[in-house]
Amino acid sequence: MPIQVLLPQLANQIAAGEVVSRPASVVKELIENSLDAGATSINIDIAQGGTKSIRIRDNGSGIPKEELALALARHATSKIARMEDLERITSMGFRGEALASISSVSRLYLTSRMIGQSKAWQVYAEGSELAVTIKPAAHPVGTTIEVLDLFYNTPARRKFMSTAKTEFTYIDDITRRIALSRFDVTFILQHNGKIVRQYRAISHKYQHQRRLVGLCGQAFVERAMGVSYHNSNLAIHGWIANTAGVAIIPELKYSYVNRRTMNDKFITHIIRKAYQEQFTETQQPAFVLFLEIDPQQIDVNFHPTKHKVRFYQDRLVHDFIYQAVANTLKQNSAPPSFVDVN
Ligand code: ADP
Ligand code: MG
Repeated sequence: MPIQVLLPQLANQIAAGEVVSRPASVVKELIENSLDAGATSINIDIAQGGTKSIRIRDNGSGIPKEELALALARHATSKIARMEDLERITSMGFRGEALASISSVSRLYLTSRMIGQSKAWQVYAEGSELAVTIKPAAHPVGTTIEVLDLFYNTPARRKFMSTAKTEFTYIDDITRRIALSRFDVTFILQHNGKIVRQYRAISHKYQHQRRLVGLCGQAFVERAMGVSYHNSNLAIHGWIANTAGVAIIPELKYSYVNRRTMNDKFITHIIRKAYQEQFTETQQPAFVLFLEIDPQQIDVNFHPTKHKVRFYQDRLVHDFIYQAVANTLKQNSAPPSFVDVN
């Protein structure tokens, strides 16, 4: 076969393989877009584990009519414009890839009303690179994205999806992870028309415990020790617990870097080590930990899902986290109590 440039539709579908592996990754990308748009309330409505439909509605800034079609184009983003921007990135997104990828493997409706505008508009894309139809719609300020029939045109991917129940478990997990990092935002998760989770935004510190119980369960919160350390370059806060002998559902091993949820062995490994130093093997670490670091000290553009970051000074970061966890465990060898640190 001669060398030829792939059609945009096919190129997007191939790229989608990296960003969108299952319904939960769609949910993650869409929630992150809502947060980047400044939303304070996000509704996530799922049908059949997301295999039938995923609808995310937010009250964020909305998208101007002229940019609606562009939002679905590949490498189109409002979040960075030049290389330097990447070095101090604070938004969740920056590649301009999610909507292009998702729309190439689904039927997607994007409806939005921009702040200060009286009308809402809707575009529809069905596995095409650029949406062509745009029509007026009824919608309050903010954005709704509806993703139908995910992977309908990529049978190989479709085959790899689990049951609706399992796919929903992944969606529940990613929603919880993100909701843990943003107590100031309301998240309402529905499955097949029923409200499954309601994480209400809180504005006062004294409500933190309630929201944490809603997210992580009573058993975790009862055993949670507050972690709070910082030096001139790094800060860590959150909760750790020994959960040996109690069933913690879900399994809480959540770490974040600059509020971005991580799926990284690096941090989990450090925490395990600190636990082993302090306790016997039977202790089960559970944790929710937020690391804050100067964005210039990390590379977030290191992994397609942004679930991993690279630390330029990984030794320093390692030692800092280790110390914070080890000190907390030592100080709390007495029965732990809830400490509010968020
Ligand atoms: P990225 O998030 O990397 O910029 P996406 O493909 O996820 O790329 O989104 C493309 C663009 O569409 C964003 O840069 C943003 O301008 C706009 N957008 C997407 N979702 C929303 C939303 N919920 N509210 C407002 N704007 C949005
Ligand atoms: Mg995005």
